[in-house]
Amino acid sequence: MRGTNNKVISVFDNMDTVTSEKTWDAALISAGAAIEAVDQVMAGKVRNAFCATRPPGHHAGIFGKTFHPEDKRKACSNGFCFINNVAMAASYTLSTYRSKIKKIAIVDFDVHHGNGTQEIVEALMKPKQFTVHNDCSPFSIFEISTNKYQPWLDFKDGKNVLFVSVHLFNNTPAESSDSNSSELPSRQDVRSIFFPGTGSVDENTRETDAEYPGGILNVPIKPGEASSVQWRQHFTQTVLPRLAKFKPDFIFCSAGFDAHEKDLIHGADDTGVNEFDYEWLTEQLQLTANQFAQGRLVSVFEGGYNINLGPISPLVQSVAAHVRSLNNTHSGPLFKASGECEEEEELGEGFAAYERF
Ligand SMILES: [Zn+2]
Repeated sequence: MRGTNNKVISVFDNMDTVTSEKTWDAALISAGAAIEAVDQVMAGKVRNAFCATRPPGHHAGIFGKTFHPEDKRKACSNGFCFINNVAMAASYTLSTYRSKIKKIAIVDFDVHHGNGTQEIVEALMKPKQFTVHNDCSPFSIFEISTNKYQPWLDFKDGKNVLFVSVHLFNNTPAESSDSNSSELPSRQDVRSIFFPGTGSVDENTRETDAEYPGGILNVPIKPGEASSVQWRQHFTQTVLPRLAKFKPDFIFCSAGFDAHEKDLIHGADDTGVNEFDYEWLTEQLQLTANQFAQGRLVSVFEGGYNINLGPISPLVQSVAAHVRSLNNTHSGPLFKASGECEEEEELGEGFAAYERF
């Protein structure tokens, strides 16, 4: 990534997102890589792709910095993100390849909720009033209000996009907090919330909603309840069946590896996820893409922060497992179109991998 050695100019959002003079170049390259990957997949040159780029994107919303007007303790940060790479590539896919790609699923398995992606996908479903008051950036102070409906292709987009996020979730405020405060959260408040504090099941699209099985599917997990087995169960019991019901023509992954048990961004006992879980999950998602999307899958790097020990660091091991699994694409599906599992003898190698769990 260009810009790594550039001097830090400022913190962009008064929280955690620093910038250098090359940051915007890097952000454009990151988003452009995801779009290039889509073109390569659609041209049939590759079946799938992983974009090893920085900065990440899933915390960037409609106006960049995500914003939660009812509760400023939630999501009032860019979370290291500038452009939502996955949403950008997904909208590009839906509009550019409209004759082939009707439905897109975005699966976010970063340890943090993809609040920016959710904000963008929610705006496809219904007009929403956004008012963003930005007084944190050193570059500008502004307020924007809009209730403009923002389709990627047309007004059916809400039905044709599914956003799934599996993440740690804890937004219990500290006892001393004042949720009605107009001020930014105190450090104590921030510590009591698992960033970004959004992504509860209350935000999910319901079966009775017009967009279902598209829309929003949050799978929040309490810190400490994400062992390897528990984490996999959320995918087998909730995410994979929903994908089978939705039947995407293209799958995007917001591939964050910071749920790894040895990542530094969460508590030591928060998760028990390791690189073998990422390898397993990648296989499940690729098998789903094989079933419904002719194998079309583009994965874009999000979080993952433990680079201690270099090539054997948890991050490198996780990314290697992910790419290894993408390379090993198999040819068989995991699910029938009905969403039910096939018999092992019919599915062969792919299902055998599923059975390992
Ligand atoms: Zn993350």
